[in-house]
Amino acid sequence: MENNFYFTDHFSDTLRAWGREEIKNAFRKCCAQFEVDSDTHKMPRVDISPGYGGSAHYDFLKLSISPNLEINPGNENESRSLKVAQQLIHHEMVHIFQQQLLGQQNLYALQTWFSEGMAVALSGQPVIWEGNDFLKELDAFEALPDAESYLIMSNHLAFDMSKSPFDSLYAIWGLMFLYSISDGESLHPDYKADDGPHLTATELKRAVAIVRDTPDLGFETALQLHSNKASLTASSIKNEVCSFIG
Ligand SMILES: [Zn+2]
Repeated sequence: MENNFYFTDHFSDTLRAWGREEIKNAFRKCCAQFEVDSDTHKMPRVDISPGYGGSAHYDFLKLSISPNLEINPGNENESRSLKVAQQLIHHEMVHIFQQQLLGQQNLYALQTWFSEGMAVALSGQPVIWEGNDFLKELDAFEALPDAESYLIMSNHLAFDMSKSPFDSLYAIWGLMFLYSISDGESLHPDYKADDGPHLTATELKRAVAIVRDTPDLGFETALQLHSNKASLTASSIKNEVCSFIG
C-alpha cells in the first residue's frame, strides 16, 4: 500500500510516516462512511507536495500539506495544524469516494455545494452551527449581485476563499449538506460542542444514495428522491436552514 504514496523531498521521515498513517486512516473512515469493503476497495495513488489543499482525480489524489508540521506537538497551535491537515486528507479522500461512485464519465455531476458540503461534513471540518453567525454570513453574501450562484453553486466558480464573504462558504455548504440529508428537523445538538461528524447511519446512507443515483437521475432528482427537505434556493436558505439550526 505504501508504494502508492509519493512525497516530494521536502518531507522528513517522521512526517512521511505520519502522512501515510493519516491517508490510510482517511481511507478506512471513508470505507465505513460509504459502506464499502476496505479489504477489496482500491487505495488511490497519492502525491504529496508542500502547500495547503488538494485535488481528487478518481483514483489519484494530489495533496498539499506543510512540510513544517510538528508531530508530537507540545503546544495547542501545533496540534491544531495537525488536526487541520488530518481533516484536509479526509476531505480529499471523500471526493475520491464520491467520484468512484459517480463513475469516470461523471466526476463532476454533483452540484458543488453538495459535493463540497459532504466532504466538509464527513471530515469534521468546521460547519456553522450558530444561527446568528449563519445570518451574518448570509447577509455578507446578499451584498453580492450574484449571491445565489455562489451559495447554491452548481458548477465550480472561481473565488478567493481567503477573503470575506468567501472564507465562510465551505462552512455554509457543510451546514447546507447536513440540512439536506438530515433525519430530523434540527441540527444534531452535539454540533454545539464540536464539528463531529455527528451523522446517523441513515443520514450517511442517504448522502451516498444521492451520489450513487446522480449519474442516472441527475443531481436534483436524486436529491429530491432521497431527501425529505425542500430543495434549497437563495430565498429559502434563510428560513429553512435557520429554523434547522434552531
Ligand atoms: Zn473539496
